[in-house]
Amino acid sequence: MRALLVPSGEGALVGAAPPVPVREILRRFWPDARPYRRWIPLGLVLIAIGAVIETAEIWMFKLVVDEVLVPGELQPLVWIVAAYIGLTIVNGLVTFGDDYLATWLAERFLQRMRRRVFSHVQTLSVDVLDRRRLGDLIARLTSDVQAIESFVLSGVADGLSALLRILFFSAALFYLQWQLALVALVVTPIFLLVAKRFSGLIKHASREKRRRSGSLSAVAEESLANQMLVQASNRQHAELRRFERENEGIIEAQLASTRIRGLFGPLVDLVELLGVMVVIVLGTVAVTSGDLTIGGLLVFITYLTQLYGPVQELGSLSNTIFQAAAGAERVIELLDEKPRIVDRPNPVLITRARGVVELEDVTFGYPGAGEPALRDVALRAEPGQKVALVGPSGSGKTTLAKLLLRFYDPDAGTVRLDGRDLRDLELASLRRNVSILLQETPVLHGSLRDNISFARPDASDEEIRRAAEAAGVAGFAKALPDGYDTDLGERGRRLSGGQRQRVAIARALLADAPVLVLDEPSTGLDAEARSAIDEPLRRLMRDRTTIVISHDLLTVRDADQILVLDGGRVAERGSHAELVAAGGRYASLWALHDAAEPAAA
Ligand code: ADP
Ligand code: MG
Repeated sequence: MRALLVPSGEGALVGAAPPVPVREILRRFWPDARPYRRWIPLGLVLIAIGAVIETAEIWMFKLVVDEVLVPGELQPLVWIVAAYIGLTIVNGLVTFGDDYLATWLAERFLQRMRRRVFSHVQTLSVDVLDRRRLGDLIARLTSDVQAIESFVLSGVADGLSALLRILFFSAALFYLQWQLALVALVVTPIFLLVAKRFSGLIKHASREKRRRSGSLSAVAEESLANQMLVQASNRQHAELRRFERENEGIIEAQLASTRIRGLFGPLVDLVELLGVMVVIVLGTVAVTSGDLTIGGLLVFITYLTQLYGPVQELGSLSNTIFQAAAGAERVIELLDEKPRIVDRPNPVLITRARGVVELEDVTFGYPGAGEPALRDVALRAEPGQKVALVGPSGSGKTTLAKLLLRFYDPDAGTVRLDGRDLRDLELASLRRNVSILLQETPVLHGSLRDNISFARPDASDEEIRRAAEAAGVAGFAKALPDGYDTDLGERGRRLSGGQRQRVAIARALLADAPVLVLDEPSTGLDAEARSAIDEPLRRLMRDRTTIVISHDLLTVRDADQILVLDGGRVAERGSHAELVAAGGRYASLWALHDAAEPAAA
């Protein structure tokens, strides 16, 4: 009985106002539960039946005492046992049905929420992943969404179940003897609260104990870790005194804790016992005056003690709400982030662009960043031309590439493809016409074949083979255990940087877009790997408008136009010959390069 009366665990009242009100949580996430709403009434019925059965099972003891034990008759035992077995079987079935339904509902609800958040994140601009920590996004997608579920469905269901049990148990109490019920329901909580006060003191004392032993180790660690300094300064005695002080503190805390436990432990027991005693004494009076049977008194006390469980569950529900509110705040914040790049109404759909790429006075700054990353940049590339971008790191080269794929829109000026503002084009069709090759090519989960056909999953085997051939993939594909069907594994750990770059070239060849953006495709590769992608790159660039970013001036030299970027501005532009002749920044870069690699030049 004591175990049932003693409150275990910390107080579960809400610590602070939840950041997202419950109504808001329900409003925002109810749509995900909506498709399953037909099943909710069934769940509620099962919960109600469960509570009724639990109440009835306790009632059976009254029958056993009053009908069998007290009169000393065995006959009623037959139907009581039968009823009990029946109740147990029904309870088993109901519990199973309830559990299964609840799990099914919860998982479906979770699935829809996760899908909604995931697909939303995919519509956000790519820099969301730069700005937010990946782990944080994943936490929002998993544990935060889970926290919402544990309130919206499970929490509400558990709360309801607890509420019904409280209702039924109390009803049973009043039905048995309403005066006694009134007294018990007023007196017991008072005793419980007093007991809780005392047990709070005990907890506080043991917490202090732990804190003290923690600081002893801290002093010891600090002192021992700096032994050289301590000894060199002849501070051993001072350190010992410091250690002694903490040591003394531990003893004090230990003794205090023992005193408090010795004093208040029995007091807690006593107070709880008193609470039950009041009921037992008054109950016994009621029994002697014939207002209550002995069995009635027994189950009365049982119902009373059993009330504690659901009351505590209701209390911990506020914890669940608190966590759900915190989770909801994070998920809602993510869901409310609007995608910046979206199709305008009735966008222009281009099938195959000619490949005229134009930037007109483009200025662009990253959201939240101070200085613009690009300023008044102009560029024009005719179909089939090659335009090179060079410049120090941070000068805006990659940013320019991102604008060409419309990962961002310029703050001022326009980016055009075939004379049309990118903002007027259907986004998907724009990206079918512009391929990008990054410095670090990510290899995706799946086979080599899947990786090559990533942008065109409908490509035939023959097309994939031809692209692989031209990109120099075929050579190393043969050496892989399952050829094109080899699973490249997570993040393509099986492929070297150069091989990955050739896969990317094959991918771009297969995508066959008229415009190509190369962002330092050979940086980070060794000389051998670089020369292995040289020919494939040339094949890829043939007949395409290419914007190439490179530090390798040999790649840059044959470009139709070279732009030297500096701090987001175009510092110089012209052909290789013109720039070298102009004697500016490019010319000095070239001179350095010449000096370093005279043979190559
Ligand atoms: P480059 O490719 O020439 O090395 P970038 O185009 O990557 O240079 O960067 C240009 C400038 O924009 C740099 O100052 C860089 O710090 C800044 N920048 C790049 N990416 C982001 C981003 N996602 N958010 C904010 N600032 C960025
Ligand atoms: Mg870059």
